[in-house]
Amino acid sequence: LLKSSTRMTDAHERSFIMVKPDGVQRGLVGEIIKRFEQRGFKLVAMKMVTPQRALLEQHYEEHKGKKFFDPLLSYIGSGPVVAMVWEGLNVVSVGRKMLGATDPAKSEPGTIRGDYAIVTGRNIAHGSDSDKSAKREIDLWFRADELANWTNFSSKRRRVSL
Ligand code: GDP
Ligand code: MG
Repeated sequence: LLKSSTRMTDAHERSFIMVKPDGVQRGLVGEIIKRFEQRGFKLVAMKMVTPQRALLEQHYEEHKGKKFFDPLLSYIGSGPVVAMVWEGLNVVSVGRKMLGATDPAKSEPGTIRGDYAIVTGRNIAHGSDSDKSAKREIDLWFRADELANWTNFSSKRRRVSL
C-alpha cells in the first residue's frame, strides 16, 4: 500500500549530454561538466569524438527533412564533440532546464545556452529530451562497456573509519 502511493523516482535515470563543436571550440567543456557535477549528477561515461554522418543521421532522425537538417549534421559532424552520460534523479528534465531553450534568445540567463549562446545553430550543447530519447541516444553513442559502474562514496551519508 505504501509502495503504490509513493511517487516512483529513479536515482539511476540517465541522460545523454553532448558538448557540441562550438562548445568545444569556445573552451566550455569544463564549464559544462562543472555545472552537472556541482548540481549533484554523476558522470558515468565520457569521450571526445568526431561523429560519423551515419551516427548523426540516427541521432537527429526526428529532424530529417527539415531545412536545418543538413547544416546541423555538417556542424555537429565537423567535431570534435564531447559525448557524456550523466546519472541522477530527474537528470533528463533537470538537464534540459540547465541547458535552456533551444533558441538561446529564449534561454533564461543562468542556463548554459542563456549564458553562452546567441543563435540556435550554435547552441553549445545537447541534452536528451525524454527518458526514451536518452536510452536511444546512449545506446547509439556508447557501448555497454563504456559506461562506468561506480559509487560516489562522498555523496553517501555513511560513517567511514580511516
Ligand atoms: P534541442 O533538443 O533543444 O537541441 O532542439 P531540437 O531537437 O529542436 O533541435 C536539435 C538541434 O538542431 C538544436 O539544438 C539546434 O542546434 C538545431 N536546430 C533546431 N532548430 C533549428 C533552426 O531552426 N535553425 C538552425 N540553424 N538550427 C536548428
Ligand atoms: Mg532535441
